[in-house]
Amino acid sequence: MEKGAIINHDQTKAPKTGDWRYMKPEVDASKCIGCSTCVPHCPEAVMEMRKRSEAEVEISGKFAKEKDLAVIDYEYCKGCGVCAQVCPVKAIIMKK
Ligand code: SF4
Ligand code: SF4
Repeated sequence: MEKGAIINHDQTKAPKTGDWRYMKPEVDASKCIGCSTCVPHCPEAVMEMRKRSEAEVEISGKFAKEKDLAVIDYEYCKGCGVCAQVCPVKAIIMKK
C-alpha cells in the first residue's frame, strides 16, 4: 500500500477558480465578529483576516471593533458557500 503525503498548496500555480464562480460571498463588516472560523474551512484557502478600516470599525458591533475582519480573494474564490455555512453569526451572504 502506498503511503500518504501532504502536498503544499502553491496558489501561484492554481487555476483562477474565480472565473467560473456563480455565487459570490460577501462579508458583512457590521456582522462579522472576527472569530476566523471561516478561514480554515475555505477549500481554496482564499480567506484571511485583516485589520478593519476606520469605516469598518464604525459599523462594527460593540465587541468586534478591536477584532480583524474576514476578507476574500475573489480571483480564486469558487463560490462554494462553505464559508457562509460555517459562519456562526451569518455574516457572509452568498449573492449572484
Ligand atoms: S466566520 Fe463569520 S464572524 Fe467569523 S471571521 Fe468569518 S465572517 Fe467573520
Ligand atoms: S465561497 Fe468557498 S471558495 Fe469562496 S471564500 Fe467561501 S469557502 Fe472559500
